[in-house]
Amino acid sequence: MAFFWTTAQEKRLGELNAAESQRSMSFSALVDREAAFKKVEQQLINEGKQQLNKLRNETKRPAICLLEARLVEALTGMGFVQVATPVILAKKSLEKMTITDTHALFSQVFWIEENKCLRPMLAPNLYYILKDLLRLWEKPVRIFEIGSCFRKDSQGNNHLNEFTMLNLVEWGLPEEQRQERIAELAHAVLEASGITEYHLEQTDSVVYGDTIDVMQGEIELGSGALGPHFLDGQWGVVGPWVGIGFGLERLLMVRDGAHNVSSRGKSLTYLDGVRLNI
Ligand code: ATP
Ligand code: MG
Repeated sequence: MAFFWTTAQEKRLGELNAAESQRSMSFSALVDREAAFKKVEQQLINEGKQQLNKLRNETKRPAICLLEARLVEALTGMGFVQVATPVILAKKSLEKMTITDTHALFSQVFWIEENKCLRPMLAPNLYYILKDLLRLWEKPVRIFEIGSCFRKDSQGNNHLNEFTMLNLVEWGLPEEQRQERIAELAHAVLEASGITEYHLEQTDSVVYGDTIDVMQGEIELGSGALGPHFLDGQWGVVGPWVGIGFGLERLLMVRDGAHNVSSRGKSLTYLDGVRLNI
């Protein structure tokens, strides 16, 4: 008979970022399992402490902040302009994205007042700004934002209530180049994130209709869309465009081989991927 980790042990190993080989261990006797747990837990605690020392003495910034900085550098290097827009969003802006009470995303929105919510996505604000920028700047217009978004999402390994989105948009490129360009932009973001293994997948999004997802295995890292798009008219903009939204915590989870996004995001219990109760 083989013994596996108890539920509590499994949970603790997950918190401590145990490797798959450690999580899938089995034992022929209970005493062996208990001894092995103590040993593995101690080893992971030591690794966590080393990581915290490295943060304190070398890197000084957690991975999510460093990734943001690298993405800013990569994108500005490619001619994209960074923008910073409010986290508080008007209900009207959501309506323009067709997110009303019959929409799948609507029930995931955090309302702070009757007509104000925490933004579940960056796209409405980017549309809002683009309307003016397309008038003021020659095309192509390239902008991006990196910032917090909020969704009452099912709390699995891949979802946070508060996560960090990168959304980039390039407006006014030749229509026949859109597919190729979206692949190029996805590649640039993944390269800056230190991820080499991924694939693109054509899917259907509740907000954007046909989308191109950036995947690693079954995990969605980002979703891209092509315009002209049926939402464009709501914002008074016309023309061909490409855009992609990525979750930074998912990028880090995949890059680091972590088990969940919570250890990579804004957190009180984790610092730079290390569980603090060690
Ligand atoms: P999923 O189907 O995985 O819930 P989605 O298709 O609803 O994601 P999008 O609206 O396409 O998400 O958002 C773009 C990206 O933002 C996603 O590809 C993902 O990387 C990230 N993201 C979305 N929701 C969350 C969340 N709740 N927690 C962490 N990251 C998220
Ligand atoms: Mg998506």
